[in-house]
Amino acid sequence: MPEKKPKTAASKLERLGLRSDGDLVLHLPLRYEDETTLVGIHEAGFRGGDSAQVEGEVVSAEIQYRPRRQLVVTIADDGGQMTLRFLNFYGSQVKQFEPGRRVRARGEVRHGFFGAEMVHPAYKMVGADTPLPDTLTPVYPSGEGLSQTVLRNAIGSALKRVDLADTLPPALLAKLNLPAFGPAVKLLHNPPPEVSAAALAERSHPAWQRMKFDELLAQQLSMKRAQAARRTQSAPRLPVVGALSDGFRRSLPFALTGAQQRVLAEIGQNLAAPFPMQRLLQGDVGSGKTIVAALAAAQAIDSGHQAALMAPTEILAEQHFRRIAAWLAPLGVTVAWLVGSQKKKEKMAALAQIESGAAQLVIGTHALIQDEVLFARLGLVIVDEQHRFGVGQRLSLRNKGDAARLPHQLMMSATPIPRTLAMTYYADLDVSVIDELPPGRTPVVTRLIDSQRRDEVIERIHAAAREGRQAYWVCPLIEESEALQLQAATDAHALLVEALPDLNVGLVHGRLKTVDKQAVMESFASGQMHLLVATTVIEVGVDVPNASLMVIEHAERFGLSQLHQLRGRVGRGAAASVCLLMYQSPLGDTAKQRLKTMRETADGFEIARRDLEIRGPGEFLGERQSGVPMLRFADLETDQALVEQASALADELLARNTPQAAAIIEAHLARWLGGREDFLKV
Ligand code: ADP
Ligand code: MG
Repeated sequence: MPEKKPKTAASKLERLGLRSDGDLVLHLPLRYEDETTLVGIHEAGFRGGDSAQVEGEVVSAEIQYRPRRQLVVTIADDGGQMTLRFLNFYGSQVKQFEPGRRVRARGEVRHGFFGAEMVHPAYKMVGADTPLPDTLTPVYPSGEGLSQTVLRNAIGSALKRVDLADTLPPALLAKLNLPAFGPAVKLLHNPPPEVSAAALAERSHPAWQRMKFDELLAQQLSMKRAQAARRTQSAPRLPVVGALSDGFRRSLPFALTGAQQRVLAEIGQNLAAPFPMQRLLQGDVGSGKTIVAALAAAQAIDSGHQAALMAPTEILAEQHFRRIAAWLAPLGVTVAWLVGSQKKKEKMAALAQIESGAAQLVIGTHALIQDEVLFARLGLVIVDEQHRFGVGQRLSLRNKGDAARLPHQLMMSATPIPRTLAMTYYADLDVSVIDELPPGRTPVVTRLIDSQRRDEVIERIHAAAREGRQAYWVCPLIEESEALQLQAATDAHALLVEALPDLNVGLVHGRLKTVDKQAVMESFASGQMHLLVATTVIEVGVDVPNASLMVIEHAERFGLSQLHQLRGRVGRGAAASVCLLMYQSPLGDTAKQRLKTMRETADGFEIARRDLEIRGPGEFLGERQSGVPMLRFADLETDQALVEQASALADELLARNTPQAAAIIEAHLARWLGGREDFLKV
């Protein structure tokens, strides 16, 4: 067992990540208190509700018991008297307030029964000539058992020891209109009273701008350097766009959109390079990412290597397998398939094919990253719906390649990311965007419907089925219990089977055996099944173009991006599609906001922007942010301009390639990241 250490100030500081003087200097105040001025007690009495600082001699101090136990101290100066009231106090405090001693107290002034009073003021005992501070008093983010005084002292002495020399040359600062580092950081720790309190609070003061810019620059530099470092690693070159790729393109029943062609060209170039591609492919739901992935795989296979495609759910992996095998198998490609719940014999056969190299393309779930999976010559890994995977999982797939010649990586995501966020958090990736939907789609009409009108909804499904169309009925995730969720889906299924006796109504959920899941999905995809009742397992990727009606039960329980994904399951064919969001009233404010957004817009970027507003970047980005230094000071919403400037300067410094530029980069990263850069190098 580890020895229990006494909690020294140092260990408490360390828990806040404050290990060095440099860390302390960059631990910046949350806010400030103004202790620089005193007002007379009489005058303070007129400031009801406002904060004031007064000083006076103790007249009396006594413990009273009504209405409850409390310490009541009366102080006086030349002009008047005031009561200080403490509801929680120590015995030692009572002794402190000896009549005649001087107290300086700061707090909100109230008008009590006995005149002006302060409840729980901040106070200290002073002498007749104890000076007032001439700067605002910083209040720092703190941790348990760590007082502001300890923090202030530690930071104060660190400020004296640390070299505050600027990392950026004066000419550059002048161009960026930013102040020098040393004076800026000192000002933030001890701002003189004439500095605008509002500018400090809103962090718009130039000193704050400098800190935010520096922080963003460090982040951009480190991520872009990690990206550059990747260029020095080797990867197999996959330049051949040959017989397979050509045959595949010719066999497609549609023409690629301009956006698909553009991103394919970007990917194709990366694949031909001798260093590993690290590309994120973004495209709204239904924009046609799968075909791009398949064409990228074809180029890898044409170049004599294997490709692997990993999807987050079995249903999606299976669908990819069916679709892509239908495209590529006729052209002579061997496609293998690997998921967790596969039959032993089938799995052994797939593993053997992957290891011998006979399987040129492998499609599957997390099962692909198990130890037993060995590739003969893996050249390209593709991760669909990448935000569903952790950094570690994506890395494990990449590590299935040859360590000396890393496979290229293509990550796909339907969660569009606002530009500023992408610039900050994906600065180490190349990003391609499919910003165009295939032609001939009619926009999905979205309606909100009270769940009391369920019968009308069922009638609509009936009508749609009579016209040869298909529908989804999605039951919500019940987080507390998988059993409950299953029950809800089973109940809904039973109810719909009974209400729609002449229709074929199926049910799919995560607990179903793989073969059963396959059978249900196949029956729906082939058009035999009219209505598919499902849990959120169909949220990602499922593609049945003939389905044109989506019903979401308890839509108020879903997040925005989830609703957008689910709605994206319809509107994939030419038929006009409808999405019915059934809700249970009464609705809370956030739910109202979300459903309103869904009705108002179908634009994935707009939805992402509003989702980001509701949830904040950490949650929004899911697992990606682990491994990326989080921003402490910069705010991506208000500091867009700084992000752009920092990104541009990082590019410029890295491109310059001179000893001066290298020195600037080193000094800047040392100050802002200390030794914490390593985890970025994956
Ligand atoms: P997502 O980007 O959401 O993964 P998919 O790859 O599943 O989208 O594509 C959605 C649907 O659009 C599929 O049925 C696919 O065959 C079809 N599709 C893709 N590209 C085109 C295109 N250029 N023209 C017409 N249909 C296309
Ligand atoms: Mg997809």
